[in-house]
Amino acid sequence: MTLHLASRILETLEQHGYEAYYVGGCVRDWLLSRPVHDIDICTNAHPGDVIRLFPDHVPTGLKHGTVSVRIDGQFFEVTTYRTEGKYEDYRRPAEVQFVSELKLDLARRDFTMNAMAMNREKELQDPFGGRDDLAKKLVRAVGEPLERFREDALRLLRCVRFAAQLGFSIEPHTLAAMQKTAPLLAHIAVERVREELNKMLASESPHIGCAIINETGLCGYSPVLQRLFRDAAAESWRVVHVQGLPQKWSLLLYAARFPAEESKAVCQLLKMSKRETEAIVGFVELLHRLQPRWDAPEPVEWGQLLLDAGWDTCEKLAGILRVCWWNQQAQTHSMMQTLVETYQAMPVRTIKELAVTGLDLQVALQKKAGEWIVHVLRALLVQTALHGLPNTPEALIEAAKKEVAQYEH
Ligand code: ATP
Ligand code: MG
Repeated sequence: MTLHLASRILETLEQHGYEAYYVGGCVRDWLLSRPVHDIDICTNAHPGDVIRLFPDHVPTGLKHGTVSVRIDGQFFEVTTYRTEGKYEDYRRPAEVQFVSELKLDLARRDFTMNAMAMNREKELQDPFGGRDDLAKKLVRAVGEPLERFREDALRLLRCVRFAAQLGFSIEPHTLAAMQKTAPLLAHIAVERVREELNKMLASESPHIGCAIINETGLCGYSPVLQRLFRDAAAESWRVVHVQGLPQKWSLLLYAARFPAEESKAVCQLLKMSKRETEAIVGFVELLHRLQPRWDAPEPVEWGQLLLDAGWDTCEKLAGILRVCWWNQQAQTHSMMQTLVETYQAMPVRTIKELAVTGLDLQVALQKKAGEWIVHVLRALLVQTALHGLPNTPEALIEAAKKEVAQYEH
């Protein structure tokens, strides 16, 4: 997303005698030459004026002064300068007041690097020294840090997340205030906590985030999370080298030596979806299953795994194994190669591809349907895929007879 489109909104507002600026994260990211993903605009125009000037809009948060304006199919949030009243529940202000001065609007923002505004000519309004702090690579609260974290405890985690995303340190007063207010994080909805942790894990420096969480005792309110970040801290830098959020989570959980059960408890605590939970716990299980034998990854081992878990999962798993501490670079290459070769060499990969069906077996063996069918088909698949049993009805039925005998034995 570029500032170019949004500049039309600034222009229109200015032409009608209003002030208008890009503000917050987009200014920060633009100054850092990082990709800008959402562009917020602030103005002294009241929401009613904004609505009047931009017929193509959605009144997303009129009470808070926000109108979403559409330009060429893209939405931009235009928010009237405002201050916030007393905060409730350590998160939200009870009410907001519109104000006429930009500086008052910037003062309500969380960190100096997020409290800058920029006009169409790219001139900066920076009353809290955000640009300096960007140069010093510091996350610093705007105003009195203790107060700011007490107003809204989500800022504690936003602070950690920005440090991780940008590779920044936390300014000492801000850090001290985080240590004091850390227990307030318990008041924040778990979905918001998860969202920030996800961003932290997906960032360029997840280990910085883990270190700050440990240093500030931020997850002290939850013993299991506290232990996770403590025990995974030393290895958490590896998370950046795996793709995909479930893989990142599973590597972190595994680095903390969390077994599958405990990993599941973390997912549930963070109210992850069933799908995410299954993916994460699945990887953790596979990692535990592989670790002791990993030194000599026989093709058969991957073969069995491929049959159990499928190609997609195995490929992702190989991506995690690639960065596991007990793994060596040299072995990694052969591991991926083994995986690919094993998969390519398989004449069949699923039960459906076998030259016989369950019904064929019932007829040939003259047996009633029962659990034995799945068991035998599964055994036939392993033999055909990995051990050279030809995939022909005759060979499979012969083999099935032996399997049934064994099964019933
Ligand atoms: P990103 O979009 O990369 O997650 P951002 O800083 O743009 O980061 P947003 O949630 O998009 O974050 O918020 C936009 C701006 O609103 C912020 O830059 C900041 O100025 C302000 N802001 C957001 N959340 C808070 C908060 N909890 N307390 C104070 N100001 C906030
Ligand atoms: Mg943003």
